[in-house]
Amino acid sequence: MYSNKSDPIAIVTPSIRASDVQKKYDTRAIQELDAAHYIHSFTDTKALASVGARVIVKGQGIYIWDSEGKRLLDGMSGLWCMNVGYGRKSIADAVYVQMQELPYYNSFFQTTNAPAAQLAAKLVEISPPQFNHVFFTGSGSEGNDTNIRMVRRYWDLLGFKERNVIISRHNAYHGSTIAGASLGGMSGMHDQQIGIAIPNIVHIGQPYYVEGGKGKTPEEFGLEAAGWLEQKILEVGAEKVAAFIGEPVQGAGGVIIPPSTYWPEIQRICDRYGILLIADEVICGFGRLGHWFGSEYFGIKPDLMTFAKGVTSGYIPLGGVMVGDRVADVLIEKGGDFNHGFTYSGHPVACAAALENIRIIQEEQLVEKVRNETGPYLKKKFATLADHPLVSVAETCGFAAGLNLVQKKGATVHDCVPFDSKLEVGMICRGHMFGNGMIMRAVGDRMIIAPPLVTTIAEIDEMIELIRHCLDATLADLKARELM
Ligand SMILES: *Cc1c(COP(=O)(O)O)cnc(C)c1O
Repeated sequence: MYSNKSDPIAIVTPSIRASDVQKKYDTRAIQELDAAHYIHSFTDTKALASVGARVIVKGQGIYIWDSEGKRLLDGMSGLWCMNVGYGRKSIADAVYVQMQELPYYNSFFQTTNAPAAQLAAKLVEISPPQFNHVFFTGSGSEGNDTNIRMVRRYWDLLGFKERNVIISRHNAYHGSTIAGASLGGMSGMHDQQIGIAIPNIVHIGQPYYVEGGKGKTPEEFGLEAAGWLEQKILEVGAEKVAAFIGEPVQGAGGVIIPPSTYWPEIQRICDRYGILLIADEVICGFGRLGHWFGSEYFGIKPDLMTFAKGVTSGYIPLGGVMVGDRVADVLIEKGGDFNHGFTYSGHPVACAAALENIRIIQEEQLVEKVRNETGPYLKKKFATLADHPLVSVAETCGFAAGLNLVQKKGATVHDCVPFDSKLEVGMICRGHMFGNGMIMRAVGDRMIIAPPLVTTIAEIDEMIELIRHCLDATLADLKARELM
């Protein structure tokens, strides 16, 4: 299924003993149960069942191990969430203590719990000044559901019921509930939910320079892409538009890093038409771009921010919405009961995990490190991959990075010859990455990483060396298959 041969790259963290792990887990038995009963997310379950899922059994720092004892460098931080790295005993301890003290209570009955109140205050402290309130959910998708309900409620309370259109972007990812998928712009998801997409959500193009910037500078293209928002507002009618939502850097869409001119122009347009700005910070939040929130990196001032993933580094599910004063003042002062909430809103155990996670990020100065030290180092090293014969562009923003695989390089990114998408070269490359112990994700033929924020300089060196080694293996494979 995959190669277990040891890779030739210098190992920073010593490997655990493969035989110890193999003794502990019966891989075949777990795979059989999995194949028989478990429907996986975003997966062809039948195809997976025929090969068997890889069983992940352990994590430490930036590495994970499977049940055969194979070590993998987790370039994706789990799923963009493992900001403080695996194996943090202090988070496990905080969760254990809270579970014994109060494992659960709701916040519906005019009640609260200590970790939820403390976490709300902590989030206000670390977020930009316009944020003084938090709404808790169990996930990012539920956070975005909450955004839809909040912005429509906001405009209704102000007497503008018809102001309920939300503008989003193609290839955006905002989660997988019906609301999340409707806000999102993933064609693969929309194609599978015919007739159930939420009405009055419309989409504009994404600010992806490689895709749309031919013949323009990135700065010119950034202004053009932001201009699509204004065009859409005028097309819909400004009096009908409630909000614009976007990820500061699109994550699942392929680490789409907008040109520097894009977000300031989006802000100007939102301000001009009085439209609420929602930043979906589920990936960018909690240090990924070298600031607590991606909005700060781009210098924008959103009215609402969705968060999840990095708030607990994925140790326990938690999400929510930072509610800016503009919305909170109306919702709280005029709104009376807000008929919305979840059983697990403000879950004490999740909030305890988040408090300890944020304490670690602060104590180890991970945000500052990514901004001033490891982020710039990753940028420099990752950019060197652009000299590889398969790579047209290799770019980073903080601790998120993407490179494009092309069949033939050209003078500019727009002169390169892409592969036929049917060849699924990205998936071939991903296979070589996995086989050699590197987790790098493929979005079409764009290969992406978002490593844990604790990744050290030495580990970055190891990771870049490993990626180059896997690109070489991909190239050799493509040549052997006569695809190059
Ligand atoms: C992952 C993600 C979500 C959805 O979060 P879930 O916890 O999976 O519901 C929403 N927005 C963005 C930007 C994400 O990356």
